[in-house]
Amino acid sequence: MVEMTVTSRRAARALVLVFALAATAVADKVVLNDGRTYEGVVLEETDTSVRFKTAKAVLTFPRKEIASLERSPVGPLQERETRLGVLDPGKPAEYLAAANWLVGPGRGALDLPTLRRLCTIAAKFDRAHAWEAQMLLAKETEAAGLNREAGTCLARAEIAKPGQAETKSRIEKLRTVLMREAQTEMEQLQKALTLLTGEQYEKALPGLRKARTGAMSERAPDLMGMSMEQLVTFVARRVKCEKCNGQGELPCPLCEGRKESECADCEGTGTRKDYKGGGREVNLAESACKTCHGLAKLLCPRCDAERDVIVFLAAAPTQFTIRVKGGSETATLQKEIDFKRFTHQAIKITMILAEPPRSGGTLPCTPCEGIKFDSSAPPLPMEKLRAYREEVAACLIGTRTYDPLPVAEKAWDPAVIADEMLRYRNGRWAR
Ligand SMILES: [Zn+2]
Ligand SMILES: [Zn+2]
Ligand SMILES: [Zn+2]
Repeated sequence: MVEMTVTSRRAARALVLVFALAATAVADKVVLNDGRTYEGVVLEETDTSVRFKTAKAVLTFPRKEIASLERSPVGPLQERETRLGVLDPGKPAEYLAAANWLVGPGRGALDLPTLRRLCTIAAKFDRAHAWEAQMLLAKETEAAGLNREAGTCLARAEIAKPGQAETKSRIEKLRTVLMREAQTEMEQLQKALTLLTGEQYEKALPGLRKARTGAMSERAPDLMGMSMEQLVTFVARRVKCEKCNGQGELPCPLCEGRKESECADCEGTGTRKDYKGGGREVNLAESACKTCHGLAKLLCPRCDAERDVIVFLAAAPTQFTIRVKGGSETATLQKEIDFKRFTHQAIKITMILAEPPRSGGTLPCTPCEGIKFDSSAPPLPMEKLRAYREEVAACLIGTRTYDPLPVAEKAWDPAVIADEMLRYRNGRWAR
């Protein structure tokens, strides 16, 4: 027993070492003075700061906060930044080349969102290579288990270059896989609809939620007069959630529903603790707490708390109002107010008044997806529900044919580049 523990521990340590080596081989490493460590890619180094890209975000560290910075030898992550950084929307073929690099030698730096974007830009702006781009994306999405997306890519490939034997054979293979998945999804849907027509709302709800994006869900608007998403909302309103007692929301755990909290630095007074002045004429620039700038209470950053802040001035326009949100409160105010001098466009500020929060304090309840219980919800269209269930049943037993392959209208997916970000600059996609 003891022997085994030692051996397995040793094995575990060896494994950790292997992972550590693999990680340091490709990633740069920043250690901050407070001990926090980040792995990723150094984008830019200046005398005063380091811009650093992690898997989640692009961060800027002031030099004085950095204890150590380790540069790894150039690996796929660094090369990826270089390759993406030179892409030019005027040369769409290069996007496909970058995609091919990512799924080949650069696989260590592969992520699907980037691949989707590269292939979509290539397919849209370089029709000659649209087929190749979609076939590549189909292969990678299928490998990731995203069979429906892979099916859509193949449908787009067929639009880009119709009648290719390779597209056809890939579509047929995928159709078999998708049909098996569709079978399971339709069985689930049928079960849920049967419960629903028997007015067993609570029992039907979990199955309906699972089936809302599955096979046959796309036909719901035609057959039932509403989408599956609408049906779920419809049914959920009739089921009282236990967690939130049907309210659809829960008090925010961070502020416990208070929407705001006293500034810790000034204990909710708004005045610096070491401020000795006073009297009638208060000089905000000297007296105001450096953390809350005299607001005394700060909005909760968790629950979308909002309020108005009224700023009074010594001269016209004498006052104005700023709407602020929890988490970005002082940043928003800083755009209008010079907190060093306590001025707004060089006019002296005499007072800052924070109104009570107008919203916030709650978070949507997860199990019921934020849908409030409504005892007077209108009845469900039972006839239409039955018709929909009959159609699902007919597809299941094969008296009606069902093609599980998604359809596409274009050789590329407009949703992927709806944000119009076609260039990669400083570690992120931009316009
Ligand atoms: Zn709930
Ligand atoms: Zn809160
Ligand atoms: Zn304060």
